Amino acid sequence: MDWIAELERAGLSPLRDEPLARHTSFKIGGPADAFVTARSREQAGASLRIARAADVPVFFLGWGSNLLVRDGGIRGLVLALGGDFEKIEFPGPELVRAGAAARVPQLVVSCAENGLSGLEPIVGVPGAVGGALVMNAGTREGEIGPFVEEVEALDPHGAPMTLLREELVFEYRSSNLGKSLVLSALLRLKRGVKADIMAVVARQQQKRLQTQPIHTFNVGSTFKNPPGHFAAQMIEQSGLKGHVVGGARVSPMHANFIENFAGAKASDVLALVDLISERVRAASGVKLELEMRIVGE
Ligand SMILES: Cc1cc2nc3c(=O)[nH]c(=O)nc-3n(C[C@H](O)[C@H](O)[C@H](O)COP(=O)(O)OP(=O)(O)OC[C@H]3O[C@@H](n4cnc5c(N)ncnc54)[C@H](O)[C@@H]3O)c2cc1C
Repeated sequence: MDWIAELERAGLSPLRDEPLARHTSFKIGGPADAFVTARSREQAGASLRIARAADVPVFFLGWGSNLLVRDGGIRGLVLALGGDFEKIEFPGPELVRAGAAARVPQLVVSCAENGLSGLEPIVGVPGAVGGALVMNAGTREGEIGPFVEEVEALDPHGAPMTLLREELVFEYRSSNLGKSLVLSALLRLKRGVKADIMAVVARQQQKRLQTQPIHTFNVGSTFKNPPGHFAAQMIEQSGLKGHVVGGARVSPMHANFIENFAGAKASDVLALVDLISERVRAASGVKLELEMRIVGE
């Protein structure tokens, strides 16, 4: 494929047929035709322009912690970010600018160390900042969206754009971001006392350890909570807690988590998702909506 040779000539070191199981927290997913990690604005722009010129689809990958990549993988270019995009800076007393490749837990702890409060509820979200913005990552106690002042991105042609607060839409586990490549965000937080913020962070982490199977291969909540219900409770009531299909199972600890506990294929997870959806619908009439995103072929 000429476009992959073009990426090589541009010094972008594309990996061919890269297994995406290496890049998802599920440890599931077939190959990408080409996989590039852009470490600078120039590299990100060049990757987009080359893909665009060849009419090749581009998939933006964060930490892969909310993705089920199908077993056939992803055609075209999978573009991840690293290097310059991992930076976290504090340009003002209440401001933090986070690169899209910075990890959320690190962002929250850096903010706490700088006496900035607000993001504590998401300290246990294992993704990168780009993915957290696109998904409007959050818990019942708070989401990232309300803190965002502006987002820097590259449009599909590789041209820079800045999205201001009033142009951004954040909803329950979704946003209007994701069509362009998110590069960084400026967040406005509240001043607080470092020790107090750290204590909240520690409490959040402890709570998660006790209630979620965070040491297994999973993508967090499989389904969104339907209005007035908890998905985990509905799945438990349907009798599927611990249910196994191939190498995948409904977590015995938290029924809204699916675990890859023994070399699961995406098809095992998909079969479990269908089974859960059917059972819950039959028992309650409620149609569960996915929170995890399914991509690839
Ligand atoms: C143990 C565990 C616990 C979790 N707990 C929570 C929780 O409490 N709350 C919660 O909200 N989520 C939770 N999650 C899910 C997940 O961590 C979040 O959805 C996270 O925000 C996803 O970020 P990511 O970088 O992994 O994105 P990915 O999974 O890589 O991608 C998610 C989406 O964002 C897009 N995307 C990623 N980066 C960019 C970019 N730079 N530009 C444009 N688009 C991009 C992707 O194309 C994809 O559509 C949990 C996951 C796990 C494994």
